[in-house]
Amino acid sequence: MYCRNCGNEVSEKAIMCVACGTPPLAGDKYCYNCKADTAPNATICMKCGVGLKGQSSVNGDGKDWLTTLLLCFFLGGFGIHRFYTGHTTIGVIQLLTLGGCGIWTLVDFIFILVDNFKDAKGNKLVKKN
Ligand SMILES: [Zn+2]
Ligand SMILES: [Zn+2]
Repeated sequence: MYCRNCGNEVSEKAIMCVACGTPPLAGDKYCYNCKADTAPNATICMKCGVGLKGQSSVNGDGKDWLTTLLLCFFLGGFGIHRFYTGHTTIGVIQLLTLGGCGIWTLVDFIFILVDNFKDAKGNKLVKKN
């Protein structure tokens, strides 16, 4: 993966970037997955679709419920809601199977809708008022 602060390639388990000295996921300039430039407030990478927010925080604030719901509804067939919530492996599988022929996406959508969907850290999705 890449340092989100300086774009230097770092180890998956690195806690600090050797080039700039900050935690690799603490920055907001580059996508850790594809090294594309990202906007400071971007929640997903516009190039590869991975979720960018919450990755750096140890406690991990929950992902936004509405964002996940909308991502699942519009891009669920590509597993984008899974990438957003940190389930990268499942996201890739869904991408390759087109959301398990849509069925998996539908199940995920219902789980999100009834607020029974958790992100990769086990946190519930956050509903903002
Ligand atoms: Zn760096
Ligand atoms: Zn990316």
